Amino acid sequence: METNFAPWRLGYIKSDKNEEGCVFCRAFEDQPSFDNLVIFRNELVAVMLNRYPYNNGHILVVPHSHKDSLTMLEKEEQHALSDAVALCENAIRSCYSPDGLNIGMNLGRAAGAGIVDHLHYHILPRWHGDTNYVTVIGELRVIPEDLESSYNHLRNFFPSGG
Ligand SMILES: [Zn+2]
Repeated sequence: METNFAPWRLGYIKSDKNEEGCVFCRAFEDQPSFDNLVIFRNELVAVMLNRYPYNNGHILVVPHSHKDSLTMLEKEEQHALSDAVALCENAIRSCYSPDGLNIGMNLGRAAGAGIVDHLHYHILPRWHGDTNYVTVIGELRVIPEDLESSYNHLRNFFPSGG
């Protein structure tokens, strides 16, 4: 496994917030790679690392459809989302042996969604005593240099291809 300490990525991460278009729709355009952080993809869903993680191993699951409500998805899309979430749970448990996981979705700005128009699941490992994790977001202390090792580690637990 390749590890990469890359503090210069901080600047890259901060500037990336200004890119145009929907980052989740773009996840379905290019081949999965560390560049787009897509770990796994099929016709219906994509699994990707959160570029602004709360914790190492913070994964997002997005449907191909650019929709802001679960009620607007086809049944097969809902099932594919659910299957992908289960894959993510397995991958996170296998990689990080967490004490627990948060799995959830923020629908709407009031609920805390950063990208409101394209719904997505957040799946992240949790440990006893990490309850101040929200405050870590703004500091981007430890996490950015670990994104690539997270990526390389997690992708071992997903079907190849896509
Ligand atoms: Zn989109």
